[in-house]
Amino acid sequence: MVSRIIPVETFDLVVFGGTGDLARRKILPALFKRYCSGQMPEGSQVIGAARSELTEEQYRASVAEALREFAGDAAQDVAAVSGFCDHLHYVAVDARGESGWGDLAALLNEGSVRAFYFSVGPGVYSDLAKGLKRHGLTEANTRIVVEKPFGHDLETAQKLNQELAQYFDESQIYRIDHYLGKETVQNLMAVRFGNMLFEPLWNAQYIDHIQITVAESVGVAGRGEYYERSGAMRDMVQNHLMQLLCLIAMEPPSQFEPDAVRDEKLKVIRALDTVAPHHIVRGQYTAADGADSYREDVDNPRSKTESFIALKCQVNNWRWAGTPFYLRTGKRLSERDSEITVMFKDTPHSIFGDEAGRHRNELNIQLQPNEGITLKVTIKEPGPGGMRLVDVPLDMSFAEALGPKGQGAADAYERLIMDVIRGNQTLFMRDDEVEAAWAWTDPIIRGWEARGDVPKPYDAFSFGPDDAALMMRRDGRNWRGLGK
Ligand code: NAD
Repeated sequence: MVSRIIPVETFDLVVFGGTGDLARRKILPALFKRYCSGQMPEGSQVIGAARSELTEEQYRASVAEALREFAGDAAQDVAAVSGFCDHLHYVAVDARGESGWGDLAALLNEGSVRAFYFSVGPGVYSDLAKGLKRHGLTEANTRIVVEKPFGHDLETAQKLNQELAQYFDESQIYRIDHYLGKETVQNLMAVRFGNMLFEPLWNAQYIDHIQITVAESVGVAGRGEYYERSGAMRDMVQNHLMQLLCLIAMEPPSQFEPDAVRDEKLKVIRALDTVAPHHIVRGQYTAADGADSYREDVDNPRSKTESFIALKCQVNNWRWAGTPFYLRTGKRLSERDSEITVMFKDTPHSIFGDEAGRHRNELNIQLQPNEGITLKVTIKEPGPGGMRLVDVPLDMSFAEALGPKGQGAADAYERLIMDVIRGNQTLFMRDDEVEAAWAWTDPIIRGWEARGDVPKPYDAFSFGPDDAALMMRRDGRNWRGLGK
């Protein structure tokens, strides 16, 4: 199978926060890999911008080190790293001050696609947008990429949207959610809308329920200050889990085109019901197996912030009436595991009798640690001895089916950054989507605050609080994933 790389125009990508953690771990390695794949046309530039005074040589050396640490085997190729570094520049700019803008302007090429990646803290976003405009660095085809968190609640998200809208058209703003860049997440759309098999069954008549789990085994140490203000609801549910839910639940868009897709996602968010308090379980990890407790990690012995949340919600429309969506995410859980399970209903009548047991089709979309899609189908257990049934997976993992191409699938940041250069907003969140997600999230969080809700403790490296399992069992269901 021949790999088809879609060419991109010559570009200048300025990474504000080019010395920070995200730039070093994700953005620069992603750009390096695209360079290795031949997607950095002659004359393209990657410009790191941050407050530190560094020479170009110092910056290149520090990026080369970051690549060796985070860009995998490709970064062992000294010539490739050096070739990439030839495209690399650095300017010291204070996004909130006056220094450095002229130096940056002098580096930018007329006529290249121009993109500014806001990899700085959210407190800097609007000053940075203003600075770019005020210093004349923007053109009609300039794009900005804005990282999460996009607002802290509806009010702050609206304010930020309004501030950015003063300087940029919505078509220039790329709000990034790296979950949407994952190969499997896009494959979910291919599976749904590229096959006749699934879509006719994709509704409450045939689907019992849907589960989305995003579990991490790491704690919050090192990010405590941010996490204390955020918690799992703001950090994960409002954005990543909500986006996954939208792709599962949305109506087929008329085309795979930015606004057609985003219109359908928006309708899903607006159709979400208000979640009753007894359909939410909040948790906070306690010390276990050598790990400190959440409260120790954030250095706040009275913290009421949740490091875990499980909730049951409903999409109120004809397609989904009666099919619950269960969402679960948390830190310091037993393993790193992100997956979506679409659990189909029982057959209306079993011709094989009670002894054949209960068997269901289950579509499992695995996002982390490995990506792949599995459909469980029921077949006869081989051998004599009557009609015994067994569920076996039809495996659609890319690695085996697509060979080397499947294994070398681009990382989410690689794909999304190239989409920015191409000017394709399909996998980025629109202003109204982000606001609708906050409008759903805010009353839930305000309810906790009003009630003084305290999260349930759970042992570090466990499955989360027992109440999360109980919530499922009350409905006669069980969580998938996390060792099950
Ligand atoms: P960081 O603190 O490691 O880096 C911040 C960078 O911004 C540094 O390069 C710093 O020099 C620069 N900076 C700060 N103020 C500046 C100013 N006034 N002018 C110019 N440069 C300035 O932060 P990070 O972890 O890299 O995160 C960056 C952004 O990405 C944040 O909004 C964060 O929420 C988001 N994000 C980070 C991660 C991650 O894994 N690190 C994941 C998702 C989102």
